[in-house]
Amino acid sequence: MALQRGTINSLRPGDLAITGFPFDGHSSFLTGPSKAPDLIIAALESDSANYYTESLTDLNEHPRIKWCGNVSARAYHSFNEPIEEILSQNAIPVSLGGDHSISYPILKGMASKYPELSILHFDAHGDLYHELDGNAYSHACPFARIMENGLAQHLTQLGIRTLTQHQADQAQKFGVRVNTMKDRNQLKGLDLSGPVYLSFDLDVLDPAFAPGVSHHEPGGYSTRAIIEIIQSLDLDIVGMDLVEYNPDRDLNGVTGMVAAKVLKELLDKIL
Ligand code: MN
Ligand code: MN
Repeated sequence: MALQRGTINSLRPGDLAITGFPFDGHSSFLTGPSKAPDLIIAALESDSANYYTESLTDLNEHPRIKWCGNVSARAYHSFNEPIEEILSQNAIPVSLGGDHSISYPILKGMASKYPELSILHFDAHGDLYHELDGNAYSHACPFARIMENGLAQHLTQLGIRTLTQHQADQAQKFGVRVNTMKDRNQLKGLDLSGPVYLSFDLDVLDPAFAPGVSHHEPGGYSTRAIIEIIQSLDLDIVGMDLVEYNPDRDLNGVTGMVAAKVLKELLDKIL
C-alpha cells in the first residue's frame, strides 16, 4: 500500500501533485523543518494506520494523488518554478515544507495562474512582520510579502494567538481578516469565493497535540477542532501547503502522524 508516485513534469489535469520543499533557511529560532517532507509521507504510509479519510475516500494508489518527491536543489526565489510547472498541466500543487517562508515564492507561482486568489491561513502566528532579525524573507514575514506584492486579493487567518501591535497594524494595512483564538467562537471570512489557496502551519495546533514544531505556542486548537474546521470548509481549493513540522522537536513521531492526518483530510477536501 502506498501513494502513487509521480513527477512534476508528467501530470494529468486534476492531479494533486504532492511535492516536498526541504528548506528551513529562513527559520528564525530553530532549524529542522527541512527534514519534514519525507517523514510526513512516511507517516501517511505507516502500517500503523490505513489510507481512508474520515469521509471514506481511499487514498491508497488514488489515481489523482501523486507523491512527486522533493524539488531538486533550487534557490529559494525559484520555488515558484516547480509550482508553475505543476499548474501548466492543470494539476494542483500540494507543497510540504519546510518552514513557512516557502509560501511567498510558492504564491508567486500560484498568482501567475490565479491573479484573484484568496488565502486561508492556519497559524498561531500572523507571519506579517515587515522584517525579522533583518530578514525580509523570514518565516515570520511571508504574508507581508504576499500582500504587498498583490499575490492575493483576500487573506483570512485563523488560530492566531501571538499578535503584536506591529502585526495588528500590518493586518489592518493589508485588510487581513484575523480570527484570533480568543475570538474563535465567531469565525469570520471562511466563506471565500473564487479560487482559494490554503496554507497550514502545524503550530496552529496546541503544542500538547503537535509538539514537533519550532515555536511552542500554548492555547491552540486541538487536532479534533482543526479537523472539524477542515471538514466544514466549502471552498474551491486550487493549491495548498503544509509547513513547519520540525521532526527534531517531535515525540515518538506523534506530530508526524498529526501532519499526515491533517494532510489526508485536506486532500479529501480538494478531490
Ligand atoms: Mn507560519
Ligand atoms: Mn506559526
